Amino acid sequence: MKLTFRGTGDSMGVPRVYCDCGVCEEARESGTNRRYRSALQIEDEELGHTWIDCGPDWGKQMEAAGVRLLDRMLITHAHFDHIGGLVEWADACRWTGRQGEAFAPAETIGEITARFPWLPRQIAFQSSDDGMTIGGWHIRTWRVNHGKNGYAYAFRFDHSGSGTAWAYCSDAIALTEEQLEPLYGLDLLILGTSFYEEPYPFETRSVYDVKEALVLIEELRPGRTLFTHISHDIDLRNSYSLPEGVDFATTGMTVTI
Ligand SMILES: [Zn+2]
Ligand SMILES: [Zn+2]
Repeated sequence: MKLTFRGTGDSMGVPRVYCDCGVCEEARESGTNRRYRSALQIEDEELGHTWIDCGPDWGKQMEAAGVRLLDRMLITHAHFDHIGGLVEWADACRWTGRQGEAFAPAETIGEITARFPWLPRQIAFQSSDDGMTIGGWHIRTWRVNHGKNGYAYAFRFDHSGSGTAWAYCSDAIALTEEQLEPLYGLDLLILGTSFYEEPYPFETRSVYDVKEALVLIEELRPGRTLFTHISHDIDLRNSYSLPEGVDFATTGMTVTI
């Protein structure tokens, strides 16, 4: 299975449209820190061509990937930075005469279709609440705390043949023991961390920062960890002396598991 980070940014991406900080300026000029809204491209013999999340940068991400068609979309929650591209995807489905397939928690499907009631004409939404099996992959989703933003969902992938396990949890903070349970025993954890050390009061926050994530990883002990959903606080030209097996995901980065 090949995973490619088509987006690693937080809700505004990098550069932020209003911002002229050093990281945003660098993102405009040379682009080391340029980050589209978070999305993951999955290419796999059994799963086909699947993406996690479809934010407003989706069209540009598809161009960067050189991809014209997708088999399916998995959606973590109905925040705009994760679903803003569904309208464009639905148009693409209409023009190609090929219905899209999207798996999301029933709660999320309800929020999406309330806002964009015409989408089900082009995209078949299916609830992921009871998990799903595609080829040897079993995929489960569960609710995770998203701080002041309410709830999001995470996805865990287990392969029955190889025993490979990985998870995608881009928008979460203050997870309970029950919510943490599916994040144990992973070969790879993809975790959202907007800031290195977020200065704002805890009750106003919605995603782990890097320092909190490092404490969490000590407990979860995944084989490898990649941070995504990164804001303009993180400058990839700097070294953050992350522990072995822990890195920031970068735009276009590919990992094989
Ligand atoms: Zn987000
Ligand atoms: Zn969110």
